[in-house]
Amino acid sequence: MRFTILLAMVLAFSAQAASVERRDHAIAASGLSVAFPSGYACEPISSPFASATRYDGSMRRGDRNGGMHGGMDISLETGTPLLSIADGEVIALGEGGALEGIYIWLRHAPEDTGSPYFVFSKYQHLSALPQLKIGDRVKAGKVVGLSGATGTAGKHYGSSGYAHLHLSTFYGPSDEYEIKGMYGSMITAREARLDDPLILYLGDLHDVSAVQSLPDERRTVRPAVVGDDGHIHPEGSKTVWPVACRKLTKR
Ligand SMILES: [Zn+2]
Repeated sequence: MRFTILLAMVLAFSAQAASVERRDHAIAASGLSVAFPSGYACEPISSPFASATRYDGSMRRGDRNGGMHGGMDISLETGTPLLSIADGEVIALGEGGALEGIYIWLRHAPEDTGSPYFVFSKYQHLSALPQLKIGDRVKAGKVVGLSGATGTAGKHYGSSGYAHLHLSTFYGPSDEYEIKGMYGSMITAREARLDDPLILYLGDLHDVSAVQSLPDERRTVRPAVVGDDGHIHPEGSKTVWPVACRKLTKR
């Protein structure tokens, strides 16, 4: 009897996990790449959006997003400050389950990013709960949490896990969203589409689904960055890279 209840719980959880992971469009590579401002050393992407491989080159599991990466990863030492990619509002935070870890969700309005859509960003695997609360406004480039390896230990990454930022972004026409999942960590924004975080740095792309047909000269995104001095370069940029960059000293 007890086993039956447990089995029912496991099945219910699997069904829920499957429904929140699946999206109404197939994840596909955007074709975008990133170039950082000259004179700055930035942490690169270790596994891009829609990649079939992890940072170490191993193949991802085929049962989540068809084995395609649902965000972008940046390998980081634990405790590295994670920066808000644009002005926004904290809409959820907490501790998720395995593969998820400590997370924070932000919502960025079109006026926050200069993009025509609402952007919902999710930062995962934080080392501790952020010192923020739901409803707080955050400024572009300000710290929203510290990197870590929560939710990554066990299975592929071994007992110590893999310290990195996993950043996912959803693009949609509406500010409306629902919080789902057994940890309250899954947000479904109305008509929003999971896609490459690099799209944010294109700024004026009106139709996210058109990203794959951009001409070659628009396929390199050039995000603004926060330097060691805590300022955004170029000054006044609305969107920034989620990790600060080191300014290289001139010889
Ligand atoms: Zn990831």
